[in-house]
Amino acid sequence: MAAESTVAMAASVAQPEFPVARDVRIAGDDKQTRFILDLDRRVDVHAFTLADPYRVILDIPQTTFQLAAGVGHTGRGLIKAFRYGLVMPGGSRVVFDLTGPARIEKAYVLDAANGQPSRLIVELAAVDKAAFRQAQAADGGAAVRPGLGDPAPTGAVVANAAGPAAAETPDLRPVIVLDPGHGGIDNGTMAPSGEAEKDLVLEFARSLGAQIEKTGKYRVVMTRSDDTFIPLGERVKIARERKAALFVSIHADALPKGEGDAQGATIYTLSDRASDAEAERLADAENKADAIGGVNLTEEPTEVADILIDLAQRETKTFSNRFARLLAGELKGVARLHKHPLKSAGFKVLKAPDVPSVLVELGYVTNKDDLQHLVSESWRSRTVGSVGQAIEAFFGKRVVSDGTTAAVAGRESRVEAGQ
Ligand code: ZN
Repeated sequence: MAAESTVAMAASVAQPEFPVARDVRIAGDDKQTRFILDLDRRVDVHAFTLADPYRVILDIPQTTFQLAAGVGHTGRGLIKAFRYGLVMPGGSRVVFDLTGPARIEKAYVLDAANGQPSRLIVELAAVDKAAFRQAQAADGGAAVRPGLGDPAPTGAVVANAAGPAAAETPDLRPVIVLDPGHGGIDNGTMAPSGEAEKDLVLEFARSLGAQIEKTGKYRVVMTRSDDTFIPLGERVKIARERKAALFVSIHADALPKGEGDAQGATIYTLSDRASDAEAERLADAENKADAIGGVNLTEEPTEVADILIDLAQRETKTFSNRFARLLAGELKGVARLHKHPLKSAGFKVLKAPDVPSVLVELGYVTNKDDLQHLVSESWRSRTVGSVGQAIEAFFGKRVVSDGTTAAVAGRESRVEAGQ
């Protein structure tokens, strides 16, 4: 132990790789509010506002936040709450939820001086709606989405060792996109004991990816393979660009306080109208991910205007439902299912018109037994096994390990499944 701490001490003499934020304070009232973040060095800050809902975004270089747990859950003055975290490799972000429209009067960083550390300071002033829009247009804030407007990440390939070299024959094995929900600045749901959904689902997706890769029949693409925020639209884009044959979004739900207890896994597909009130609540919660991450929602691309999409969507729906049923059947034996395990609602992340997509809520982090499962290695490996079974059943015998294409497999089953 002594040797270890010596090493740690020696390492800490050198400056840490990333700036460290150690403390935060908010002062003022609902007319003028000042936000102060203590840092161990100067950073560049880019601050801008977003509407619907009213937010202030601070983009800074990748920063290690060492703030007290729970800080930001409540704010003061114009800042209702705030959160912080990674939005991309090399970039961190602080997002304020505002109580109403406000203008950024100043956003600057002070050098360490007089025993005070470096400080990032943001001064806000309340304005009316019209002035908010004007200020937003003037500073071009709405148009700036550093990192998130850049070319989309193409998704991380989990492993490629089994596949043929890229220069040789093209890899025609079907692509399965695994989508661990949330990430980075967006923690998702939180267990009372502190486990974050974003970590639980990433671990699950990693082990599912490894299991699928092992069969040698599919290519696995992860929408994220680390603790990075990925906007919902990017996740859909990855599925479409990689021409995925299946998209599986992985989450863990939480029941709001005072709404009793619920348990078990639920499988969701896309629909215009939610199958019940709980499905609607959940879709609303999951669709908030972009607002949480500070994505400009007013800038979201409009739906592709293509009449073919409607047609593809109907076909895709049939396949999504088929996979959902297969998955429920397989999970029934090993994981506890919710009392109504098949539901549907308007999840943004399920909107690829040409990729069969489901969203799995593995369980409730607010339920003691479910949480115990979610953190258990043996539960995970059993559950991953049954998702693997459902995938095998979905693609059936049509996909063989020599790489029969997904397109062929898809079309054949489309004829068979046609209503
Ligand atoms: Zn979620």
